[in-house]
Amino acid sequence: MAILPIITVPDPLLKKISKPVDNVDDKLRAFLDDMLETMYAAPGVGLAAVQVGRLARILVIDTAPDDEDPNPMFFINPDIFWTSDDFAVYNEGCLSIPEQYADIERPAECKVRYLDYNGKKQELHAKELLATCIQHEMDHLEGVVFIDYLSKIKRTMYVKKVKKYVKDND
Ligand SMILES: [Zn+2]
Repeated sequence: MAILPIITVPDPLLKKISKPVDNVDDKLRAFLDDMLETMYAAPGVGLAAVQVGRLARILVIDTAPDDEDPNPMFFINPDIFWTSDDFAVYNEGCLSIPEQYADIERPAECKVRYLDYNGKKQELHAKELLATCIQHEMDHLEGVVFIDYLSKIKRTMYVKKVKKYVKDND
């Protein structure tokens, strides 16, 4: 396994649309393992493949609380086919926008279809933090990051702060 470098805003790759995965084999699973290790090391609760420079429709997520066992989830070619009418607000962060947070409103629940680590079709009804996390990570596959929901002034300020953070931590 290996820890992969995470790209940050304003990297133009983060604006690109990711492509579906053709087949789930050992080579892909090695990449999934690397993504998971990278996410845990960051540390973070979700990571999309584009954030480590690969435009593939893949997410890894683990929203288990710190005092519980890890619960790694792999979503390949995920598709949200239902969202609830009620909304929830979470103070979101992103490994590609280090140290910056904002309250973002999204549907409180969602249902998602995807392929798992073994390439098996799965369906999940997600609630609470997991529902928010899936929607946040799915946005990455469409070239969207959470600061895109903010005003242009705020967005520019966040990008400036990230540039400074990256420079200071180089
Ligand atoms: Zn993110």
